[in-house]
Amino acid sequence: MSVLRGLRRLNRYEARLFRIARKAGKLAQIEQLGYSARSSDGFRFPIYSLTIGKPAALERSPVGLVAGVHGLETIGIRVLLDFLESIFDEPNRDVSQALLDGDIGIVSIPILNPGGVALKSRANPAGVDLMRNSGKDGDTALPFFGGHRMSSKLPYFRGKSLQPESRALFRFCLERFSQARKGTILPVLDVHSGFGMKDSVWWPYAGKKTPSADHYLFERLSRILHTEGDGITYEPQSQAYTVHGDLWDRLYDDYRRSKKPAKLLPFTLEIGTWSDVKRNPGRLLSKRGLFNPPPEQKALMIQRYRPFLSKFVLLSLLYGE
Ligand SMILES: [Zn+2]
Repeated sequence: MSVLRGLRRLNRYEARLFRIARKAGKLAQIEQLGYSARSSDGFRFPIYSLTIGKPAALERSPVGLVAGVHGLETIGIRVLLDFLESIFDEPNRDVSQALLDGDIGIVSIPILNPGGVALKSRANPAGVDLMRNSGKDGDTALPFFGGHRMSSKLPYFRGKSLQPESRALFRFCLERFSQARKGTILPVLDVHSGFGMKDSVWWPYAGKKTPSADHYLFERLSRILHTEGDGITYEPQSQAYTVHGDLWDRLYDDYRRSKKPAKLLPFTLEIGTWSDVKRNPGRLLSKRGLFNPPPEQKALMIQRYRPFLSKFVLLSLLYGE
């Protein structure tokens, strides 16, 4: 029963993804990047990417949007799908115009961990926490929560090898971000939900306290993203907590090492959804309750992130001014 409900939810999100592609018409393309790890029942789930934009813009100034790395964080998936769907609506003309003018291209993976969504687990179908799976050791990772190699039955398991979902993300990023010219910034946003009381925007590193080479650039872009009263904390992830195996730490370092002329700048938006816990402490007892607010708040909460995401996808234009 529970698996069926999870599958229905996944099907709903995927149907929405195809609807968005239809809405974007000629500008959109859906591609299957590969399959998830295999579940204990033998299922593998397809992973899709959606790109929106003119071919030249997708090569020259792509901006990345990712969600659904953790299967339980469906708010993050819905925030991303809601934004993508809103692009061609009236209030979002800045973004649709930039896409039509060929100024930006959006490259997205809205559900990186479809098996986790279907099976209602944070981890992928093999029990691996993808955000601990890059293989890169953190210098100062927290014990257990920061990732471990004890058992796939326990949360925060790092896995013994790079998972198909992680590989799909790496391939996608290295391919999509390889054509940009010198001086271009390539912002990527990975949307999560449910860590704490407040919203945070993080950048590398997650595995160590050492500032990244682009620390000041990340700060500068954060100042552009920030709007009065947004309630978001902007900081390197290691200020909040440290982990082993963060996928973005590895992508950021690999990209820099590849000596490409552009700058790949991964951000994570962590949407805090615990703020209703005080009013309704019973929700703490339900696993899903921790990661999802009550239904009546959801629609409004989800739309609240449209302006932030609009600004994010326009970052490379705003930054130049
Ligand atoms: Zn997460």
